[in-house]
Amino acid sequence: MTDRKYYLLIANIALIALLLLASGLLYASEKSIRIGVLSHRGDAVTHQMWDSTANYLSYALHPKKFEIIPLDFDEIEPAVQDTLIDFLLVNSGIYVNLEVRHRISRIVTLDNGTQEHPLNVFGGVIFTRADRSDINQLADIKGHSFVAVDETSLGGFQMAWGEMQKIQLSPYDDSSELAFFGTHDKVVMAVREGEFDIGTVRTNILERMVDKGDIDLKDFKIINSYPDGFTYLHSTPLYPEWPFSKLQQTSNQLARQVAVALLNMQLSRPAGNFHYAGWTVPLDYQDVHELFRQLQLPPYDPQQRFTLLDAIERYWKWLLIALTFVLMMAVMSTWVSKLNRQLKKSKLYLEHQHDLVLDSVCDGIYGVDLEGNCTFVNHSMKSITGWQAEDLIGRNQHQMLHHTHADGTPHRSDECPVYQTFQSNEPRFVEDDLFWKKDGSGFPVEYSSTPMHDHKGETVGSVVVFRDISERKQAEEEVRRHQAELAHMARLNTMGEMASGIAHELNQPLTAIATNAYASIQMLESGNMSNEKLADIMEKIGHQAERSGEIIRQLRQFVRKEQPQRCPLDLNELIEEVLMLLRPEVRKAGVTIQRNLDRSISKVVAQRIQIEQVILNLLKNAIEAMVNSNTETRNLVITTEMGGSHSVIVSVEDSGPGISSEMRDALFDPFITSKKKGLGLGLSISQGIIEAHRGNLYLDSSSGEGATFRFALPLDHGETSHE
Ligand code: ADP
Repeated sequence: MTDRKYYLLIANIALIALLLLASGLLYASEKSIRIGVLSHRGDAVTHQMWDSTANYLSYALHPKKFEIIPLDFDEIEPAVQDTLIDFLLVNSGIYVNLEVRHRISRIVTLDNGTQEHPLNVFGGVIFTRADRSDINQLADIKGHSFVAVDETSLGGFQMAWGEMQKIQLSPYDDSSELAFFGTHDKVVMAVREGEFDIGTVRTNILERMVDKGDIDLKDFKIINSYPDGFTYLHSTPLYPEWPFSKLQQTSNQLARQVAVALLNMQLSRPAGNFHYAGWTVPLDYQDVHELFRQLQLPPYDPQQRFTLLDAIERYWKWLLIALTFVLMMAVMSTWVSKLNRQLKKSKLYLEHQHDLVLDSVCDGIYGVDLEGNCTFVNHSMKSITGWQAEDLIGRNQHQMLHHTHADGTPHRSDECPVYQTFQSNEPRFVEDDLFWKKDGSGFPVEYSSTPMHDHKGETVGSVVVFRDISERKQAEEEVRRHQAELAHMARLNTMGEMASGIAHELNQPLTAIATNAYASIQMLESGNMSNEKLADIMEKIGHQAERSGEIIRQLRQFVRKEQPQRCPLDLNELIEEVLMLLRPEVRKAGVTIQRNLDRSISKVVAQRIQIEQVILNLLKNAIEAMVNSNTETRNLVITTEMGGSHSVIVSVEDSGPGISSEMRDALFDPFITSKKKGLGLGLSISQGIIEAHRGNLYLDSSSGEGATFRFALPLDHGETSHE
């Protein structure tokens, strides 16, 4: 043999060994097919009785492997339910129950006879001792003791019970005592020994015991005997033997293979210890169903067909999950409802607090939605306007509160600041407006209107906080009136002081008029008067008269009570007019006036007499300061200029002694004066006037020598003209 051939042979052998090993492993690893068998006489007996059948199937269906699983009565249903087995071999009673409940199906029926006497049906035999002359028929069960094999034994109890049921008797209710002895032999012996009056076992038990020499048939009397020619003594109808069944999940192909193998068994008669003859085609188990129906045994016991216990046993996992879930839900819902209660309570508390806060505010507060309708109102709103909440909520706020201006003209809703607030999403403050009450009267208000947002930040309306400013307006008016009175008094006082100077000032034109008048009379009398000359003199007289008239007009205007109207004023003109009034004082004091007047300044809207009074006060104070301190140089510079584009500034600067540090702090306080005859009101009144015009008056302490007073008046757009 060449090396190459040798290696090939070894390789082939190895390959075959491997294949054998693999198929062995495959065979070993293949799951064995499990046959559940009712084991009411212990596992060992069950194996002893049925292992040969499993071995036969393993042999017949090689390489499939079959094994016997002994099952107690209680283990059968769970094993079927959890498919722990593939086939089931149980008595016909258990079979019909599981057929209904778990859809198992028979594939063959046991032939429990011998080769000579095949037997796939069986019955029950009811008997007593032969010497019991008092027991002759089934009805004699009444008042006698009864022994049977097992409650679940079809031939050893249930068939006999069925017969009794037919004559309305029951071993449970009508016997004097009912016992189950577990094995057929024990039942037979108990009756023979006279321990029990009547007994029942399956067919062929008595005959077998006779064959074995255990009993003598003459000692027994058969009750309710069926004379139908059946091989064995029996007292009940015959029912099919144990079926061999497949579970619902077991494949039909496997079931078919098993059925064929079992049916063939009788023909092939394999070697083995079989306690039965073989298997036949599956019989009809309808009679067993009928019997169970009649006895109301499971699955035909309406009460016990599917008890709560069954349900718990079968579905305990799901029940546990459901119970846990329900418990969790209950805990959750308790928790949620507790939380809800707390939330409701907190909500109520917050709403209460909210209402309390809203209602304790003395300003009126109300909400407006995007349609302009009121959404809420506070207590003050109701008491100020006279409207009730139900009058306002849901109604258009503009039409109720804001419809007309103070002068009676309609207030258009598109101009309403409250609407504009949520339209432009910007807060607004309105200093002076008018709201209307329920009684039709109006009242002055100041209010703020703020956009209202929801939790997403979207604008949903406005909140309006308003205040009735009637009282404040009245108080302001009172102050204003008082100040005007004071100012008037001060003007009269000033004029009193200036009276002699002004009288002197008037005297000059009057003297000139008189002189010119006399001169013209003399010239007319002398006839030395030409018309041109006369006209010239008359013109001079007229001119002087006008001058006096102007002084008097200024004087009258200055001392009269002020007019409340404001009008556009040229401050340069005003200064000239005041200087005219002051001319006698200026001249007398020897003061040089320097005018730095910017002719391009804008007009300001103001009250003429009041501003004149301020200018006069400042100029007069400056002249008096220079006179009182005896300074040699007496210069007074009056300046006008624009203060940026928003105001006009007037400055009065003198070359006097300036303001002492003691005076400086209280300079603008009333009744502070350094003069013997002074009232100390001039600067305080002047400051009040300028501030009422929204301007300011101050001492400019930056300049060195003398004193510089300065005031600024704002240019109010719309009210100021630049003519
Ligand atoms: P009155 O002129 O009646 O004293 P004012 O209020 O006008 O009242 O002035 C208050 C005081 O301020 C004056 O008494 C004076 O002492 C001081 N004062 C005002 N203007 C000047 C000025 N230009 N120079 C120095 N002192 C002044």
